[in-house]
Amino acid sequence: MERYDVVVVGVGGMGSAALYHLARRGKRVLGVERFDIPNDMGSSHGITRIIRLAYFEHSDYVPLLRRAYELWRELEREAGEQLLHITGIVEAGERIYEGALRSCSDHGLAHETIDGREIGRRFPGYQLPADLPVIFQRDGGFVLPERCIVAHVNGAIARGAVVRARERVLEWNEIENGVRVRTERGVVETERLVLTAGAWSQDVAKLPAGLVRGVRQALAWFQPKQPELFAPERLPVFNLALDGEHFYGFPAFGIPGFKLGRYDHFGDGGDPDSISREPSMADEVPLRTFAERYFPEGAGPTIALKTCVFEPSPDEHFLIDRHPDAASAIVGAGFSGHGFKFCSVVGEILADLVVDGRTSYAIDLFRFDRFGP
Ligand SMILES: Cc1cc2nc3c(=O)[nH]c(=O)nc-3n(C[C@H](O)[C@H](O)[C@H](O)COP(=O)(O)OP(=O)(O)OC[C@H]3O[C@@H](n4cnc5c(N)ncnc54)[C@H](O)[C@@H]3O)c2cc1C
Repeated sequence: MERYDVVVVGVGGMGSAALYHLARRGKRVLGVERFDIPNDMGSSHGITRIIRLAYFEHSDYVPLLRRAYELWRELEREAGEQLLHITGIVEAGERIYEGALRSCSDHGLAHETIDGREIGRRFPGYQLPADLPVIFQRDGGFVLPERCIVAHVNGAIARGAVVRARERVLEWNEIENGVRVRTERGVVETERLVLTAGAWSQDVAKLPAGLVRGVRQALAWFQPKQPELFAPERLPVFNLALDGEHFYGFPAFGIPGFKLGRYDHFGDGGDPDSISREPSMADEVPLRTFAERYFPEGAGPTIALKTCVFEPSPDEHFLIDRHPDAASAIVGAGFSGHGFKFCSVVGEILADLVVDGRTSYAIDLFRFDRFGP
């Protein structure tokens, strides 16, 4: 029987980072992935993901973000390629503006409070309402999810990790001296298990009912009418809650399209295997309407449409903890549509929990027992 120190189930954003940090600490580690590495079936594809220091969702994320930035830069040096691009971030809309401002004042983060007119003057791709209060943070930008996964996996393999894709984990059970894991290709044993199965976590990690759902999201890339206004040097990433909806977006990068998405927290969902992955005209309409209203020079012909899956927990905060029913298993799940920027630091935290049984990071916000015993 093959035996490992740690088996990581799911080699997406979080699993690849966990593998990397465990391998760095000398653990004999196996990563098992159901689809390809990287793949476009989970939550970690689509070329770009926003990263930002001010965190409107909760101020407790800020110390983790500081470390995440450091670790992305470290990984870049090791991989020899740029993974993190700084553009600045524009944020507006009541909850976002107030939350980001609170986070800046709690943690002394540099920021500017300006208005839509000033944003349009500095970044002419934007045409926001002139008197809209806006918070601008220079540290915002984007990371490249597929390249980050590849860099983490390469770093893990270089340190001896075994990584196997196109192999679905079917079952795992605690045994006397660890965990037995049954996959489509055989059985392995391990001292510890790390469960990072993204939108599939509810079943794969055998979680108490109702903790993680898969929710379908749509993304569009539109060809800018004036491409120079939508280059990374001219267009900061954004989070905008306007007209009762929350949209986010990116400069053109990787493909010739200005990218935007709409946070659809309550969209079609449940079992990720039953979610339609094919984008449709109906997916495009709200994205195009938004682009035409607030980024008119960006709303040219469609370049690409894609779907992706969010993995919300009930309160949209992460789940990072020892498994509630299995002492040998650690769970990293429920990243709720805002986790990618944290992968680097979550990998480190998961490795802490496996190797030391605890972490120096403040992660009480992510414990299972917040939902009851
Ligand atoms: C449209 C969209 C936009 C987003 N925008 C942002 C953003 O701008 N900034 C940000 O920080 N975050 C963003 N997020 C959220 C972020 O991308 C996710 O929180 C993060 O990618 C989750 O990583 P994960 O490792 O948990 O999931 P994944 O990367 O999906 O990894 C889980 C892996 O587990 C595998 N798996 C599942 N079941 C099994 C099994 N039985 N056996 C083996 N393997 C299995 C899956 O195939 C998958 O590869 C966005 C997400 C989406 C969908």
